[in-house]
Amino acid sequence: MSLRLTQPIGPDSRVEPGDARALQITLNRLELWMPSPDAGMNGIPDRRIIVAVRDLQRRAGLPATGRISPGDATETAINAALAAKGKGGSYVWRTMRDERVRPSHAERDGKVFRWSDPPQGGHPGEASNCRCWAEPVEAPVEEPEPPCFDDPWREEAMAMIEEFEGNIEWPYGDTRGNITAGPGLNVDRWWDFRRLPWTIDGDPFRPATEAEKLEGYGKVLDRIIDLFERANYIESGNRSEKKPVKIINVPAVDWKMLTRLRLTKEETEKLFREKFQQFEKEVKGRFSAFDCFPGPAKQALMDMMYNLGSSKFEKSKWPKFFAAVDRRRWRDAAENCQRSGIPLERNINTEKLFEEAAKQEEDEKEKIEEDSTN
Ligand SMILES: [Zn+2]
Repeated sequence: MSLRLTQPIGPDSRVEPGDARALQITLNRLELWMPSPDAGMNGIPDRRIIVAVRDLQRRAGLPATGRISPGDATETAINAALAAKGKGGSYVWRTMRDERVRPSHAERDGKVFRWSDPPQGGHPGEASNCRCWAEPVEAPVEEPEPPCFDDPWREEAMAMIEEFEGNIEWPYGDTRGNITAGPGLNVDRWWDFRRLPWTIDGDPFRPATEAEKLEGYGKVLDRIIDLFERANYIESGNRSEKKPVKIINVPAVDWKMLTRLRLTKEETEKLFREKFQQFEKEVKGRFSAFDCFPGPAKQALMDMMYNLGSSKFEKSKWPKFFAAVDRRRWRDAAENCQRSGIPLERNINTEKLFEEAAKQEEDEKEKIEEDSTN
């Protein structure tokens, strides 16, 4: 195809509608102009058509007058551009999406066509009174594969989380009044409690007897009930007025001398390792690329997984955070990782880890770029 105007088109000329339409179709084909979606290919020259002509003139090294006349250098440049483009490439068919669009064109809306292979009746805008236009097919942006980090991270993550969470060798009541031991293991039910390999304080090689376990369990349970009752009493100032207090807050160390039941260091380590592995599986279920993340990001995610638990660490509850991690936007992750109701230093620690991850990944990408340009 080529452009053959009959009259000049410019900022100040009266334009022949057939010429304007031909120019629109041409500039649309050259991907220099698209109609506004509420006007369509209408044969009326607007400011944007003039802008597109100027754009083309600049590219062709011509004075950017926005004016084009039959047979002039601009028309010649347009025809040269059309010839250079040839029939390669594809476009998306766009329609006005109103009731005036002919059904055969309405059907084509949003579909991709090749310039080399016009559908029945021609390309958009070519059939009489057709207001349809071609939208350039966006070339898929190829993101380079992100680098994969497989440095050791697990030992460090375990030490960090164990430090934050504690790993207690004796039975104690947690804030909700559940009997707990080791790495926050809930053994509130007698059946779970008695299954732990309790030993006796000062005698780590002697397993506790069933009677000793039962005695210890009873003591912890009594203390919990007592604490709740006392808390309620203090709260209401009146024992008869039942106003249940939901949490108690007694540090684990204060429960130490209540019983002689102890777990060995090896046992608490083993329990912690098991729990950690469980959560590692869960975090990988949430982030499929986890294995390739930078070490500090792995550590931070494990801390959140462990700290929040399965039901709270969910995409629906942390939409911004999950989106950031999925895109490996570690600085965004740092901004959106704050948990409520935990010590400030733990949040700051997680933030720092994500920032470190961002830095590691940026450095790595730079290195890869340098390697590929050298
Ligand atoms: Zn149409």
